[in-house]
Amino acid sequence: MTMTTPLLGQMMDVPLTVPSLLTHAARHFGSTEIVSRRIEGDLHRYTYRDCEKRAKQLAQALIALGVAPGERVATLAWNGYRHLEAYYGTVGFGAVCHTINPRLFPDQIAYIVNHADDAYVLFDTTFAPLVDHLAPQCPKVRGWIALADVGHLPAMQTPVLNYETLLQAQDGQFEWPELDERQASYLCYTSGTTGNPKGALYSHRSTVLHAFGASLPDAMGLSARDAVLPVVPMFHVNAWGIPHAAPLTGAKLVFPGKDLDGKSLYELMESEHVTFSAGVPTVWLGLLNYLREAGVKFSSLNRTVIGGSACPPAMLRTFEDDYGVQVIHAWGMTEMSPLGTLSKLTWEQSQRPPAEQRKLLEKQGHAIFGVDMKIVGDDGRSLPWDGVAFGDLHVRGPWVIDRYFRKDESPLVDGWFPTGDVATIDPDSFLQITDRSKDVIKSGGEWISSIDIENVAIAHPAVAEAACIACAHPKWTERPLLVVVKRPGMDVSRETLLAFYDGKVAKWWIPDDVAFVDELPHTATGKLQKLKLRDIFRDHVLPSALEDQKDCPLTPLSPHA
Ligand code: AMP
Repeated sequence: MTMTTPLLGQMMDVPLTVPSLLTHAARHFGSTEIVSRRIEGDLHRYTYRDCEKRAKQLAQALIALGVAPGERVATLAWNGYRHLEAYYGTVGFGAVCHTINPRLFPDQIAYIVNHADDAYVLFDTTFAPLVDHLAPQCPKVRGWIALADVGHLPAMQTPVLNYETLLQAQDGQFEWPELDERQASYLCYTSGTTGNPKGALYSHRSTVLHAFGASLPDAMGLSARDAVLPVVPMFHVNAWGIPHAAPLTGAKLVFPGKDLDGKSLYELMESEHVTFSAGVPTVWLGLLNYLREAGVKFSSLNRTVIGGSACPPAMLRTFEDDYGVQVIHAWGMTEMSPLGTLSKLTWEQSQRPPAEQRKLLEKQGHAIFGVDMKIVGDDGRSLPWDGVAFGDLHVRGPWVIDRYFRKDESPLVDGWFPTGDVATIDPDSFLQITDRSKDVIKSGGEWISSIDIENVAIAHPAVAEAACIACAHPKWTERPLLVVVKRPGMDVSRETLLAFYDGKVAKWWIPDDVAFVDELPHTATGKLQKLKLRDIFRDHVLPSALEDQKDCPLTPLSPHA
């Protein structure tokens, strides 16, 4: 075959850059509102047009402070309009916006600030004590900027700059510079359940492509007729891309600030006619409890994305059957910007019997265009998409990580990113996450899905929260132990709970024991901290282990590591 020069397309090579999203919203949806519950206590409202002007003032202020393109500017902030300005006012002139999760341990935060080499840190005044703790450990930070006006500055040991004063000194007459779409945009660190957190450094191109993907009708499906309330924090994986998808589509934004209890969320959703929301299951537990206790219903909310951890089927049913809200179950991760799959049915699937449709919707869904996935066995070979074979989930695509920030070694295997999740994929191409690979329970060499076991427990009316972990067993190596938090004022016995599993899962999946606790350990992003839980129950002896110990006297009853 002779090599020929490829015939190139003759369309404009306009780079995909983040500030163009806000410019689009300011021009075409200029009067669409952005409403924020402020930590000052009041509701703040302005428009996309106002937001772009202030984002430009911030860019001018940061440039005046000497921030150069490529330098990191961090945020420690709740969901609100000033945080949105920081999202654009940094990235817009080529700096990198590093969103920090304030729920991490302070020492981890100090590690992250130093690792990212943050030039400035913008912080909500709620975090003033945290900043006082961090500042001595982060000597390279050139300035700490309080997201407040002069009247709301708290007393602090650290000398701080004031956001509103910085903005007032600028006129907003600023053109976003031409940027290379491969330049870095946002820096997000993983929650770091093992070892130090690692940084995922997105690019303008990956952020914009992800915003397109997130907005698709069978993804989040945002539109200019939506009012969107992201409960998922802007300090966790860019609030799942909503701060970019909303300006892209012209959706109204409603920011809840720091009050994420059921009552505050419900009242804001009602007063701002919110149609769409997104968050982790734990937050929705609080909201659903409030709705039940107060005997109220939604008047405008019609759909919500639930992800970050598995959405229990019982929660999906309550949202849909009792409140008429469509649940879109989603899976993703920091390393994927984060969206990977969402549960929406095709026309054909929506013609199937209701129980079959529900079964599909309980799964994490199908990949959006831009995300390629496969499941592989221990030998690295692809497993069939039959809904039965479990395997390590690998992904690739234009918004999937290639390398961690400031780490040389590549995490990729044959060009694919190993997610650390274990999953099945069914003939409908629906993904189901069964576990993190390190949380998998292997009983007699066969895998048991801890998520399935937890979902059954949560469906019991007396169970508020449940976690299933592996416990050492002399005969089977590991057997499941269920750890349960009861609902306040309700009771259930070990025997009743175990009997509740009859007919719901395979007999050998039924946990061998139940332990009742007051609370379960969670990570900074609200996920169950199973590593810690396994540590707590390291010496737990299963009754079945004692039984089988008699049959296998030579097998030591060693705690599971
Ligand atoms: P993070 O990077 O903090 O967003 O965490 C990503 C991890 O959260 C994934 O690798 C999964 O283990 C878990 N996760 C996210 N969404 C889901 C979901 N819908 N169901 C089960 N696990 C999930």
